[in-house]
Amino acid sequence: MRLFGTAGIRGPIESKVTPELALNVGKAVGTYVKSGVVVIGRDARTSSIMLENAIVSGLLSTGVDVIRLGLIPTPMLAWATNKLGNAGIMITASHNPPSDNGIKVFNEKGIEFFLEQEKELEEIIFSRSYKKAKWDEIGYVVDRELKNDYINALLDYVDHETKLKVLLDMGNGAGSVITPYLLRKMGAKVVTLNAQTDGHFPGRKSEPRYENIAYLSNLVRDLGMDLAIAQDGDADRIAVFDEKGNYIEEDTLIALFAKLYAEENKGGNIVVSINTSFRIDRVVEEAGGKVYRVPLGQLHDGIKKYGAIFASEPWKFIHPRFGLWIDSFVTIGLLLKIIDKEGKPLSEIVADIPRYYLVKKNVKCPDELKPKVMETVKERLQEALKNEVEEVLTISGIRLNLEDGSWVLVRPSGTEPKIRVVVEGISEKRKEELFDLAYSLVSKTVSSLS
Ligand code: MG
Repeated sequence: MRLFGTAGIRGPIESKVTPELALNVGKAVGTYVKSGVVVIGRDARTSSIMLENAIVSGLLSTGVDVIRLGLIPTPMLAWATNKLGNAGIMITASHNPPSDNGIKVFNEKGIEFFLEQEKELEEIIFSRSYKKAKWDEIGYVVDRELKNDYINALLDYVDHETKLKVLLDMGNGAGSVITPYLLRKMGAKVVTLNAQTDGHFPGRKSEPRYENIAYLSNLVRDLGMDLAIAQDGDADRIAVFDEKGNYIEEDTLIALFAKLYAEENKGGNIVVSINTSFRIDRVVEEAGGKVYRVPLGQLHDGIKKYGAIFASEPWKFIHPRFGLWIDSFVTIGLLLKIIDKEGKPLSEIVADIPRYYLVKKNVKCPDELKPKVMETVKERLQEALKNEVEEVLTISGIRLNLEDGSWVLVRPSGTEPKIRVVVEGISEKRKEELFDLAYSLVSKTVSSLS
């Protein structure tokens, strides 16, 4: 049995993420770090204080000390852990429904625990081999108010003043305690929506996907704002609308930040996940930089290997010189900087990023068939496209970069019985063509082998 999934421990509060489990996670983390300080934060959910108390009890019982930061967004917990802790714990289920909660553990650099570290925690929990402090060695707790320090660190890093008008939709999540204050300190004129924390998420669903926040499209225009930004429950993720009400695609956002870093740095290495658009390469290369691709979930290895100045997966932006965690607040600050620096409306800045046509679809495939299917697909896809392939990447499934900038990615899902097919074409027609080819190849291979 596994407790940790791809985003730490997450699930329904009544059946999975119970106070009993939270107590054990606290004991396990305390046992794992042996001594020192664990920093803890929580999101706005109705169950978060309950879980926090259980985790703190567990930590103290092993003899470690605790710094309690209260209701804060996840990036701030990572930042504070890097500054003050031997480990950090965030109580959050990100954008899940209000009946869920979760626990994420961070190392002393503010990076989420890697798989191996999570396995060690699981082993401690399953074998109940907890460290037990004697009565006079039990840890102590201090409450600290660090929101201003975090905001000041962000202001230092972003280093920008603005007069932009920003519509912020916090979705009643933890971003409410940072984002409006940060932007006002930068000089922005801020209008907020759903910016009081509430574990019932009365304003909207917590995930800032287009369907959940489509109303911002009209609102940003009606209010005459320069842009709208929405965040998820723990505020590590953002969605953006331009002044005309257009929802900005995630790959375009990545391209905007990658471009800024490459320009400011006069080159440099950018690391992105395997499923991201070629438009990023175009703008980075123009600025004298280079793009490297890594499998999903492996940005940290990539940052180290290539000395990256910026790293991203869709929705996740890491700014290594600020810290090695996903920090949406740096991202927001830099977005305002980009708009001012370019000196034109966001919609026009976005229009300068090459627009390609992307399609993603899955083919059902039992886990045990995946290796065989991938082997065949790799061979046949290369054969079919051999006259136009420029580069073949096999770090995660197969990605063929074609001469005209279009690309095809086929990779087995790491979490579901599916093979993912992603195609980006430089035109609608190219997209259709390449997708038909790749999708039917994968479907046929799966049915011929099953
Ligand atoms: Mg989140």
